[in-house]
Amino acid sequence: MANTNPLGTLDPDTLAGIVAAASSTSYEDWWGRVRSSGYCAHPIHLTRTLAGQTTTFYARCENRRETVCPACSDLYALDTWHIVTGGLTPERLTNATAVFVTLTAPSFGTVHAHHAVDPTRPCRPAVTGACGHGKPAGCPVTHQSGDPAIGSPLCADCYDYEAHLLTTWWFPALWNRYTRTLRRLVSRHATGVKVSFVKVMEMQARLAPHYHAILRANNEPDALGIDLETLTTLAAVAASRIRVEVPAASGTVTLRFGAQADVQPLTHDEQTRRVGGYLAKYVTKGITSATLPARIPAANIDLLPVPEHHKRVMSMLVRLATLLPDEYAGMADRLGTLGWRGHTTTKSRTFSTTMTAQKQQRAAWRATHTTEPGRGFEPDAGDADWEYARSGHKTPGHRYLAVTAALKHREQLRTALMADDVAGPRQSES
Ligand SMILES: [Zn+2]
Ligand SMILES: [Zn+2]
Ligand SMILES: [Zn+2]
Repeated sequence: MANTNPLGTLDPDTLAGIVAAASSTSYEDWWGRVRSSGYCAHPIHLTRTLAGQTTTFYARCENRRETVCPACSDLYALDTWHIVTGGLTPERLTNATAVFVTLTAPSFGTVHAHHAVDPTRPCRPAVTGACGHGKPAGCPVTHQSGDPAIGSPLCADCYDYEAHLLTTWWFPALWNRYTRTLRRLVSRHATGVKVSFVKVMEMQARLAPHYHAILRANNEPDALGIDLETLTTLAAVAASRIRVEVPAASGTVTLRFGAQADVQPLTHDEQTRRVGGYLAKYVTKGITSATLPARIPAANIDLLPVPEHHKRVMSMLVRLATLLPDEYAGMADRLGTLGWRGHTTTKSRTFSTTMTAQKQQRAAWRATHTTEPGRGFEPDAGDADWEYARSGHKTPGHRYLAVTAALKHREQLRTALMADDVAGPRQSES
């Protein structure tokens, strides 16, 4: 498996790099830049030459994946937390109701399972016999969390990879249809209701996407509007009605969400806080626990250090791209994301604040707190004369030092949060 430890390994090269970094005469300068980037693991080097003097700045890589950059993934999680909880403040919930919805893809075949509710429960113990390919239809193993078998099919030949990848590809379209349907259903019950949302995509162990979303319905002042019970019902009804017909190798297939949409009414503060933390956690997880390169040539699939299920997923993307180039040529460029082409986090305009607004707030905050370590240099329109030089740290040793500092910084942040639990992360950033 690819390395998932953000620190990497402490091999002789890395050690030599650490010694070189620490004993260099430019150490102080370099460390200042690392601090200003918020201890980014892969900073972008920007240079500006003024009156013959060249200055170098480190800007954040802004990669949201924990394994690539702990510092930037922390910041992304914090921004998501703000967006989610910012949409559930008492002001925004005045005359409004909100629900937490999880929409999954349907089953494409039986996969090995870890039962989170009862971890001592075996995978599929009661099932006997074999499939047409001679593979056992059951599995007596109790898969521990982290077992690479979890999510992979009991028989890869029975598993419907075509439907799986078509669903992944069209999942954002299913969501668009879903919000339109829900808004239509809501408008039949009450007029003037505004439905807004924030949603986060999570890749399940079986490598199919699912959405966690918060839907908020704002009623008109003094109108009867939509109550919590009705919104909960309509959110589930809308999910069950979605059908999208798409081109497939065998003509067309009809896509839909999994049979059971999970809709939970959001009723009080504690619950909304927990949901905020939950969504924030998902955005930094990355597409899969394996670190995949952004671009993977089709010829290299078999060489990748990933489980067979990943390889089958990628091979199906190549197959569909080849069979139906008019529709799916783009799939060949999406092997590294396992066919995912949407955003991780999206929100409707009126739900709450935006990532951009948060960046602006941080920049404004930094301007008045210049002695504190920065949350990262974020060039804005006024910084147009900066030039890209290169990215990353000079040696694995330099990176190791930056990531160690990022992890230590996170520990301090968590300790501060626990000491000040009522205020929440909102307070800790400034
Ligand atoms: Zn970074
Ligand atoms: Zn199993
Ligand atoms: Zn089979």
